[in-house]
Amino acid sequence: MDEEKIREAARLFLEGIGEDPLREGLMDTPGRIVRMCHELFAGYGSDASEHLATRFEAPAGGGVVIERGIRFYSVCEHHLLPFFGQAAVAYLPEGEVVGLSKIARTVEVYARRLQLQERMTAQIADALAGSLSARGVLVVTEAEHLCMSMRGVSKPGSTTLSFAARGEFEADGALRAEAFRLLGL
Ligand SMILES: [Zn+2]
Repeated sequence: MDEEKIREAARLFLEGIGEDPLREGLMDTPGRIVRMCHELFAGYGSDASEHLATRFEAPAGGGVVIERGIRFYSVCEHHLLPFFGQAAVAYLPEGEVVGLSKIARTVEVYARRLQLQERMTAQIADALAGSLSARGVLVVTEAEHLCMSMRGVSKPGSTTLSFAARGEFEADGALRAEAFRLLGL
């Protein structure tokens, strides 16, 4: 990251909205924004396939693996405002499973970037489908967008759902419906 550019941009932005970037409360704000950017946009520097490299033998007779309630925070690329919520992942293992924390890490890799919810959901599904030996992957995300709650149509509390299906979950509507049921959707 070019920290000086971020600091300079923050100073210009503060001036642009009519603030005084040198007043006491704002003096350290450009530096705070730099440190925040390292956290919020850490996904640019990480690769989901590394997290998914460690796999275990799937238990015999196992069915769909589901992980729900994976909290995420991302930033909408249209407004630079947060959108946040929960992701749920279902996959059909073929011989191998991955540690559950690795699925949450995969979500983080794609959430911590400037994003669109639909693209983030698709990227998580593609990363899982590409790295896991799975017959199918289904990713569902539900998020509140501050660009909708704080401005524009101003609908606080409303959420946006997005899903991406790969493999058998894409090909087989009944299987997908069953997974949605298990996910409580
Ligand atoms: Zn937005």
